[in-house]
Amino acid sequence: MSVIKKFEQFNLEERVLPDSQGEIVVVLGPPGSGKGTLSKQLKSDYNFEHISTGDVIRKSEDEDLKKIIARGDLVPDDLMLKILKKEFKKLDPTKNIILDGFPRTIKQANELDSMLGKMGLGLSHALFLKLPYDVAKERIKRRAEIEGRKDDADINTINKRFKEYEEKTFPLVDFYAKSRKLIKIDAEMGKDEILQKVVERMKLKKANKNL
Ligand code: ADP
Repeated sequence: MSVIKKFEQFNLEERVLPDSQGEIVVVLGPPGSGKGTLSKQLKSDYNFEHISTGDVIRKSEDEDLKKIIARGDLVPDDLMLKILKKEFKKLDPTKNIILDGFPRTIKQANELDSMLGKMGLGLSHALFLKLPYDVAKERIKRRAEIEGRKDDADINTINKRFKEYEEKTFPLVDFYAKSRKLIKIDAEMGKDEILQKVVERMKLKKANKNL
């Protein structure tokens, strides 16, 4: 079955609307800005459920997707939305949810709004991890040595990812500023300070792991 067919089978509109929702947040920032790290901290300490579209795609066996990632290109919006819907459907929307790596284009952001709207949900915040590109590139080089991600090892792929980010994803900062959802964080700080800032700005309470 083609990868597109596979994701077409999921229909979110059949869901029953929940009575309440948790925080639903997206995290933006250039490659290497720490989106995955922050998401994992929110998951372990603040009860967030986490979707990383990058992780989902990297696990796929689909040859076309593998080629797209290897080139540093973005996956087409329509396919990406199907992948997101499938992952979102697995989550409990009454809990806190962090989307890491989605949306990456204005079209994806509009589709996300409409998907959430149909489910009776709404986005709480867009966290923007602001980091100069040279610092981000240094972090990616280090991550390539530690984690061995293939798309971190090739300079042409890295440069393509930054170009795609600049052209297609960065405009989302303005998009979310206009809807007053943007929380801008200086991502040159250490990971614990970044988490602290996010917690303060979102007024989050630490999860009680004994409950
Ligand atoms: P990073 O933020 O470090 O660049 P990710 O792990 O979030 O990396 O994503 C890796 C790759 O997965 C991207 O370069 C792109 O090819 C693909 N990808 C992930 N999310 C999306 C998305 N929302 N739209 C299009 N492509 C995506």
